[in-house]
Amino acid sequence: MVDRPRPVPTDLTRGFWEAASRRVLGIQRCRDCGRWFHPPVPVCSRCHSQELGFEPVDGLGTVYSYTAMTEALVPGFESDVPLVVAAVELREQEGLVVVANLLGFDEGEPSIGAHVEVTFEELPGGPYLLPQFRLRGHGAAV
Ligand SMILES: [Zn+2]
Repeated sequence: MVDRPRPVPTDLTRGFWEAASRRVLGIQRCRDCGRWFHPPVPVCSRCHSQELGFEPVDGLGTVYSYTAMTEALVPGFESDVPLVVAAVELREQEGLVVVANLLGFDEGEPSIGAHVEVTFEELPGGPYLLPQFRLRGHGAAV
């Protein structure tokens, strides 16, 4: 059985993964104009600044879109199906979307616009934690 793929940070994404390892959702933000970006970019598309850094956000958002996979078509995900992958729009900025697994849907599917919160899954062998989402107020940590 193949292991799930692991995050491979780059210079551009390292801040995101390092924040996640502290159970913090770190999103890139332009230090000159304040615009948020995800995935991270080398230059701000609004003011062309290269002064970008990662800032913590509270990880609250809404389901913008999703897909539910009922078969593991990618090796390593056999034990994870059914798997709901969602585009979650964070409340910091319209259009600021993070794609992640949406946990807690062994049966059924989420609603577009459902309120969700970030949670962090430990990956076997570490060192990174994987930011994922769950319906807000549905407690149990993973
Ligand atoms: Zn900017």
